[in-house]
Amino acid sequence: MEKANYIPKHQSTNKKRRRFRKILMLMRISMLSLSFIAILLASFSIYQYGSIEDLQTEKQNLLTEIQSLENKLTDTEKTLTSESSQNQNLQAKVSTLEDKLNKEFDDWFAIAKNFYIPFKVTYYCPCEICSEGYGHKTASQKTAVSGHTVAMDPNIPFGTTLLINGEEYTNEDVGGGVRGNHIDIFVDTHQETIENGVDTVYVKLLSLPDTITLEEKNNLYEFLISTYS
Ligand SMILES: [Zn+2]
Repeated sequence: MEKANYIPKHQSTNKKRRRFRKILMLMRISMLSLSFIAILLASFSIYQYGSIEDLQTEKQNLLTEIQSLENKLTDTEKTLTSESSQNQNLQAKVSTLEDKLNKEFDDWFAIAKNFYIPFKVTYYCPCEICSEGYGHKTASQKTAVSGHTVAMDPNIPFGTTLLINGEEYTNEDVGGGVRGNHIDIFVDTHQETIENGVDTVYVKLLSLPDTITLEEKNNLYEFLISTYS
């Protein structure tokens, strides 16, 4: 029995050392694991908080940007509304002015058409010499008709009717040499142009085309004023 229970002293010490080393190693492993977990937790929390802060900053920046854009939009809308109402005001003013000018011109023309204006009168026919190949074609796209068609200064609108020697004519054409107080009366033959020659006639304006624009009225006004002076 004594023999069986006997454990040599150096053997016992070795066992103790081994156990101690084992505990030491376990402690080391635990410490390492704990440190590792701690580092992991720390990194994670840094990552988390950093990320949230970044997101919050980003969100704030975006909100500021949205607000700034909304302000710009409001400003633009205000400007547009203001410009639109300014445009409407201007259009209304222009419209009023046009009405006034139209009325003034119509009143003036009602008087002006009572006067006879001296014009130099010549004649042209569909021949090559007179019409340079245009024949019966006129600048107003109408077919030239004798006793009806005349060519006048471009400041007088097409469709203007006039009285010459008691006959009614319509301005339907223009001619290279027909400017100012010069009227060119269309006839059928070249013989008539020679026979009629050049003369002075007193022309009375009868009517203006319904389609006459304010610009045409102004041109006609300037033209007629210059013929009187
Ligand atoms: Zn001719």
